Amino acid sequence: MGRMPENALCERMLEATRRRGYLVLCACSVAVHAAISTRELPHGNWRAAAVALLSAALLPAILSRRVSAQRLDTLVVWCANIGASYFLWDFYSRGLELGARESLTVPLFFAVWFGLLPLKQAVLRGGVLYVALAALVLRHWPTDPVPLLYTGFLLFLIGQMTVTGRQLQQELSRTARYADLALTDPLTGLFNRRSMERRLEDHYSLQASAPRSVATTPPATGEEATPIGILLIDVDLFKAVNDVHGHETGDRVLVAVGQTLRACARSGDLTVRWGGEEFVLLVATGERAALEHICARIHCALAEQDWPQALPRVTVSIGAALSGEAQGAAELLKLADRRLYRAKDAGRARMNMDDVQANDLSGDNRVFSAAPLELVSTR
Ligand code: GH3
Ligand code: MG
Ligand code: MG
Repeated sequence: MGRMPENALCERMLEATRRRGYLVLCACSVAVHAAISTRELPHGNWRAAAVALLSAALLPAILSRRVSAQRLDTLVVWCANIGASYFLWDFYSRGLELGARESLTVPLFFAVWFGLLPLKQAVLRGGVLYVALAALVLRHWPTDPVPLLYTGFLLFLIGQMTVTGRQLQQELSRTARYADLALTDPLTGLFNRRSMERRLEDHYSLQASAPRSVATTPPATGEEATPIGILLIDVDLFKAVNDVHGHETGDRVLVAVGQTLRACARSGDLTVRWGGEEFVLLVATGERAALEHICARIHCALAEQDWPQALPRVTVSIGAALSGEAQGAAELLKLADRRLYRAKDAGRARMNMDDVQANDLSGDNRVFSAAPLELVSTR
């Protein structure tokens, strides 16, 4: 398995949450303004009815998957801009006082701006609205300043909460990035040794906690230690690649081998750079036939060498083992390592899955690549 697209997943979840938020807000706005309009319409006041209709008109856009979340944000910001301008004009033209209704409406504009715009733009819009409102309120001086101060306090509170929220979000994404870096190999982008050890240890601790006596019954936790397979993969005669073509080309070969392994892995498998020119594939299966099949795919892919750049051809030797053959991660790795060296001893470019010599082809050991080791050939 390649690296998990966690960011994309996170983005999608955030988008869905935002959409739900808009939906709730819009539905509430329709309900509240429809209720107000039943009282006000008979007196010729159509404003609440108009807001209810506008809010209802937004609903299809919020529900439509064709309108992206970014477009929705822009739409909502424009609604807030127009709404705030209309609010000020209405406030001025009707000579209104700052009552409970107005004190609740203004923070809504603040919340939209601070939630969706860059901080400077949000502060600018919020500031302009507040100053204009203060001017309109204070022109009737002497008047009660408390509602104005209350609205100002809300503006400050919303701004403060937004800044804190954004800092927290930045901190979280930085932590996620560091966590990602700590588990990733910088050259190939594959998972590193630490993430693999963690996965293997998880596997064996899950297995230890599973009830062994009733093999067919899953553990009470609902989690089951499904058997896995491990392929310890070593690039053959890689030192010669460096010696003949240079270290930089060697690096590019390692990246290409990593990509090939990732392409040969299936979803649920873990592709790891173990270190140097060694890789590991943790395969989500406990069946030896499946491991043999993946090894065959790896050897074929390397023989075809369908890489974007012309690079020296390489083969690999593989030591394979099943999790059921060992009691723990260290033992499993040792087993795979021993088998890898048997594959090397037997002439490289092959896999070994038994504790017998890999050149014993009467057993279950497989030689997949008849391709010669063309270390100097480039495409
Ligand atoms: P064998 O078939 O027995 O595995 O032979 P080998 O040459 O692959 O094995 P050996 O252990 O002798 O050499 C491994 C080489 O891999 C030596 C080292 O310079 C090279 N190597 C390790 N890490 C890197 C790396 O990150 N980049 C490059 N370019 N070379 C590396
Ligand atoms: Mg090696
Ligand atoms: Mg090697």
